[in-house]
Amino acid sequence: MLQKVLIANRGEIAVRIIRACRSLGIETVAVYSKADAESLHVQLADNAVCIGDAPAQKSYLNMENIISAAVNTGAEAIHPGFGFLSENATFAKLCESCGIVFVGPNAKTIEVMGDKAKAKQLMQDAGVPLVPGSEGEVSLEAGKKLLKSIGLPVLIKASAGGGGRGMRIVKEAEEFTRAYHAAKQEAKSAFGHDGVYIEKLIENPKHVEVQILADKYGHVIHLGERDCSIQRRNQKVIEEAPSRLDASMRNAMCEAAVKAAKHVNYENAGTVEFIVDEAGFYFIEMNTRIQVEHPVTEMITGIDIVREQLLIAGGVTLADEQSDVTFNGHAIEVRINAEDPKHGFRPSPGTVDFLHVPGGMSVRFDSALYTDYDIPPYYDSMVGKLIVHGRDREEAILRLQAALSELIISGVSLNQTFLMMIMKHPDYVDGNIDTGFIERHMRRLLEYET
Ligand code: ADP
Repeated sequence: MLQKVLIANRGEIAVRIIRACRSLGIETVAVYSKADAESLHVQLADNAVCIGDAPAQKSYLNMENIISAAVNTGAEAIHPGFGFLSENATFAKLCESCGIVFVGPNAKTIEVMGDKAKAKQLMQDAGVPLVPGSEGEVSLEAGKKLLKSIGLPVLIKASAGGGGRGMRIVKEAEEFTRAYHAAKQEAKSAFGHDGVYIEKLIENPKHVEVQILADKYGHVIHLGERDCSIQRRNQKVIEEAPSRLDASMRNAMCEAAVKAAKHVNYENAGTVEFIVDEAGFYFIEMNTRIQVEHPVTEMITGIDIVREQLLIAGGVTLADEQSDVTFNGHAIEVRINAEDPKHGFRPSPGTVDFLHVPGGMSVRFDSALYTDYDIPPYYDSMVGKLIVHGRDREEAILRLQAALSELIISGVSLNQTFLMMIMKHPDYVDGNIDTGFIERHMRRLLEYET
């Protein structure tokens, strides 16, 4: 069992991890940039160490400073949260070589799964269904040839991609060469690696993903699936659990996810992502870390996933068999971003001059905000997550609408009304959702008074 954990992150996820540590009696060490000295995670942790200047490169991505902070404070483990160093195999290796437990899978698994083209090949070996496409990275010539066999439209994707970036849609054959070079260049500058692969573009699919837990001793279970189809520019905005897949597809997908995890000797929490159309489901990638949207799974299973991560990293055997996991009701999460939807969703940092958090049955607000908090301009615009649970989807939607209308975060522009517009859209209410939802309804979703 771990005694002292350093949290190599900030914002709501750092606070979330501190809470899970507390529930296990684990001592916590926060790290922070100079812009985050007044942050909630710094105030809540038992210890706090400044690790550098505001830009993430100088602080939250500064491996040496984070490792030094762990060594100097006697933390035996590092929880990386999501983003920043959470899927950085070099960092996981560095932890291993310094005798620090990395709360996540081992460096080798992170490396393999971080190369999305390679990961797909591995999944093919495991018998997991894939989106038709190239076997690994492709040259321009090979790509052109492939177009003929899989047919248009296709998606050119960066092997090292993430966060919905580094993708190019090709609808006409003549666009291919230009899009190929553009995708490579974007991949090089965003991820430092210009390898790209090709997938058939599945038109307006659903995004459904399976939460996995695996301990050090080969036990793997799933905690069901989440529907994350409400996206803007391939980035998730609203997530819910369960999805509306029928039981046979759900079971097949969860089994495929467990098979995928076993095939790579996976350890800790992970997510196997699929896209779904009428014909079936297809693996797109595995995320080797805690996901932003993990609370919806927690709400319907009653399992604290971050707590499980800490137990697994400490060498504890999974307490639950698959048959112990039960699913109850419906949960929905919306991501509250400090951004201005009416002006191209531009980030809107600033001071929160008043905060009122909704309460009531089955309402959860994960954030690091407080009144008079200055949201710094250096990091992601997500400042909180509002999550509700209901007996069924209908009740969850009504609860979320009520909670959204009660939440007050004044002083900065937020996407709160935009989220409410989605929650009230008849297609959303009917469960008629896919990854094209926001784009298709954008005009109506922006028709509100500010
Ligand atoms: P990232 O790692 O950047 O998040 P993913 O491969 O997970 O990239 O894909 C992100 C989103 O992009 C998916 O949820 C889906 O909406 C869309 N997408 C990815 N691959 C395809 C595809 N082959 N066809 C249609 N949409 C896709």
